Amino acid sequence: MMLAMQNSDNLNFDAKHIWHPYSSVTKPSPMHEVVSANGVRLTLKDGREIIDGMSSWWSTIHGYNHPRLNQAAKQQIDQMSHVMFGGLTHQPAIDLARKLIDITAEPLQYVFFADSGSVSVEVAIKMAIQYWMAQGQTNKQRLLTIRSGYHGDTFGAMAVCDPENGMHNVFEQVLAKHLFAPAPECKTDEEWDDSDIAEFKSLVEQHHSELAAVILEPLVQGAGGMRVYCPEYLRQVRQLCDQYDLLLILDEIATGFGRTGSLFAYEQADIYPDILCLGKALTGGYMTLAATLCTGKVAKGIGADGSGVLMHGPTFMANPLACRVACESLDLLTESNWQQQVQNIEQQLSKELMRYQTMSLVKEVRVKGAIGVVELKQELWDQMDWLPQFIVDQGVWIRPFRNLIYIMPPYIINTEDLKKLTTAIGNIIEALTEKLAIKKSQ
Ligand SMILES: *Cc1c(COP(=O)(O)O)cnc(C)c1O
Repeated sequence: MMLAMQNSDNLNFDAKHIWHPYSSVTKPSPMHEVVSANGVRLTLKDGREIIDGMSSWWSTIHGYNHPRLNQAAKQQIDQMSHVMFGGLTHQPAIDLARKLIDITAEPLQYVFFADSGSVSVEVAIKMAIQYWMAQGQTNKQRLLTIRSGYHGDTFGAMAVCDPENGMHNVFEQVLAKHLFAPAPECKTDEEWDDSDIAEFKSLVEQHHSELAAVILEPLVQGAGGMRVYCPEYLRQVRQLCDQYDLLLILDEIATGFGRTGSLFAYEQADIYPDILCLGKALTGGYMTLAATLCTGKVAKGIGADGSGVLMHGPTFMANPLACRVACESLDLLTESNWQQQVQNIEQQLSKELMRYQTMSLVKEVRVKGAIGVVELKQELWDQMDWLPQFIVDQGVWIRPFRNLIYIMPPYIINTEDLKKLTTAIGNIIEALTEKLAIKKSQ
């Protein structure tokens, strides 16, 4: 009784006073209070355990409460949690930069530590613009991207998110005006068709003199629509960037650290970016940290006129606690058999989700690495009064948006738990089908 009271007190306070992502305080959405988490499971206040299909938004790749990540954090806390990065440096930042330079493409040699993915995108955009400024090319300030992208919630990042499903409708007037090519359609190199990149190419041809960079998410577009496209598109983008002297920014904040089957998605196209954004899984889901890496060409180009300094410096830049945990997370990753884990997840997702392809409500099923997506023919906005509760009652944590039900579980998930997630997705689609049929007949 006491517990139940506290729980509802908490939830009432939360509903009254706290913003959640993309939420309203006048019409708060239902919440579940999590008290602890372990492996792939979240424990709710009422004692229930649910299997996390979201990896807390792509980040918890090794699972929750990992003894080695816990230990790394505790050891670092006893040394120092934080110290400013202006004029001072420390071992955790040096170790992490070394590791990142080691595991990314050889030309990426310079690391800027940012405090979130969105900030790392802001920094990437600044790098590109400052690079051209320092070359005396003051009109190269715009960006070219593809539709259905997502790059974060800050103003610079928002301006390159998809103009329709992103936040342009609210902030249109204040956002920088960039260029958008259609989202790629070719899903595999086998079905490649030159027309897929025709419009992108013509935008480059028309606008290259005012373009600083191309920015996109390689192979998998995340929050902009959970779309998958082929490596050939990326190869051709790289080639056009070289031909027209544009910088290529790859946002691997979601795809990085093995999620798509290779350590970084760009490896599958055998290319590398001039500027690379990393985040999300960087600390294994422990705390916020991101990084923007760039090549010597970009880094040295920014300082070309002798006075060029990169104009960014967050208060918590290279937070030692976060860097230390990130080092441990990268060690865990390299010591693990993540390739096999991701491949196993991919195979199981393919087998178990593809079965839903024939359901009347399903438009398409997509699987890439440890990511499984079921796109429905119907948006789910108006189902949110019952759907989240229904999902938790299935013993899982999945958070559909728009017309998408998708999962990207921790790499350590076992066959049985993954089966529970895919089964729950089937149950969700069935329940939706029933609800919609009832609604239609009313
Ligand atoms: C999540 C995400 C971001 C933003 O990262 P935050 O840490 O939420 O600011 C940017 N780009 C991509 C591709 C992402 O998935």
